[in-house]
Amino acid sequence: MNQNRQDLAVVGGGVVGICAALFAQRAGFDVTLIDPREPGSQTSFGNAGIVCGGHYVPTAMPRAPLEILKLALNQTTYACYRPAALPGFLGWLAAFWKESAPVNLYATAREALPAMAHTVALHRKLLNEAGAGELLRDTGWLAVFRSQQDFDAVRPELDFARDAGIPFDVLSMVEARLLEPNLNPVFECAVNWRANSSVSDPFAVSQAYLKLFRQAGGSVQQTSALSIQPHDDRWRVETRDGSHYCGQVVVAAGAWSMELLEPLGYRFPLKPKRGYHRHFAAQGNAGLARPVVDDAVGYVLAPMARGIRMTTGIELARIDDPVNEGMVQRVEPYARDLFPLAETLDDEVWMGRRPALPDSLPVVGPAPRHHGLWVDFGHAHLGLTLGPLTGLLLSQMLSGETPIVDPEVFSPRRYAG
Ligand SMILES: Cc1cc2nc3c(=O)[nH]c(=O)nc-3n(C[C@H](O)[C@H](O)[C@H](O)COP(=O)(O)OP(=O)(O)OC[C@H]3O[C@@H](n4cnc5c(N)ncnc54)[C@H](O)[C@@H]3O)c2cc1C
Repeated sequence: MNQNRQDLAVVGGGVVGICAALFAQRAGFDVTLIDPREPGSQTSFGNAGIVCGGHYVPTAMPRAPLEILKLALNQTTYACYRPAALPGFLGWLAAFWKESAPVNLYATAREALPAMAHTVALHRKLLNEAGAGELLRDTGWLAVFRSQQDFDAVRPELDFARDAGIPFDVLSMVEARLLEPNLNPVFECAVNWRANSSVSDPFAVSQAYLKLFRQAGGSVQQTSALSIQPHDDRWRVETRDGSHYCGQVVVAAGAWSMELLEPLGYRFPLKPKRGYHRHFAAQGNAGLARPVVDDAVGYVLAPMARGIRMTTGIELARIDDPVNEGMVQRVEPYARDLFPLAETLDDEVWMGRRPALPDSLPVVGPAPRHHGLWVDFGHAHLGLTLGPLTGLLLSQMLSGETPIVDPEVFSPRRYAG
């Protein structure tokens, strides 16, 4: 039996798995990336393209009784659920509720600060290496608020950001329209989060990182991993096309990760928070210079290579439930009210699955009960942002180097016990 632990398989080729493969390769591992689909073609394909620099306060469950009632009645624009899927979410929702308490939310945000400080620079470095630096734009992003009450709800986040030294500007509607003249005057005020960047084509970003991996000799197997099993002191990844043996395995299969880990006894509370997008042309010469988030309504208008990408909030549904066009239809009138959208550019809406753990941060590191098994999933709303950082961090843990940030914030032990 080959005792070489330098060969490693990464299962799952979204932006997270691609980055894990790339950095493991750079740390000296002989890496095979396994995915049945085109790498980068799933959730990583269709996000809003925001690379959060500086800080991130996790998405939270509302605590105001009226808002909870609206959620329960499926009457909000930022989230919805499929009744048939609800029983499968009850445990997750209870944990999410606990994590949504302001004290927990801001504790998580504080712990994540060191990691968030590296996100933009890592993307810039990799994209420049790939000759695709133009994909990353130092745009910041703009949150707009349609009422003073909506703005007041984010004051705790502003206080947190101020304390953490994160740069932002609170703008009147008139000031915001100097930055984005094509926004209609339907909002009261805005916050310009300056430390953030955005990309013009998230799929092209994944492709650029995959190109770097391939150019350095990385291998991609287009097949589905059916199971992962210890095999003597190595691992066997059983695929649709035969067995793949390797010294170590990284599970980076996004929202599908538990299909491979459950048979090994793991119970990470991972659920798909599904989200949608549709592209639109803009009327006349209208355009946006940066992603705009209609905060309380809960959608994003992001300027992309293809057009204006409108992305939605959260749908709690089973991973393979049919697409729900209603999510897009609910926010489109608000988007048209805010910005002069013209015709849609897509025949169908796109749907992706944010792989979400209750505290909204991923698990990155050694799987608690198996030697040579590693996890890198659960990036929820931050997979584009954190893909390179978590890939680098994992590679440093794999090779015993000093990690770029304390990996404890992403410790798999916080869930697996
Ligand atoms: C509407 C929307 C907007 C978003 N906006 C942003 C944003 O602005 N900024 C940001 O940072 N993040 C954003 N996100 C989140 C981000 O897109 C995700 O966190 C990220 O794409 C997750 O990447 P991933 O690689 O973990 O998953 P995926 O991209 O889903 O990749 C998982 C891969 O695993 C593969 N796989 C599954 N099962 C197997 C198997 N058995 N064997 C082998 N391979 C397998 C799949 O084929 C897939 O390619 C958004 C998400 C959505 C839905």
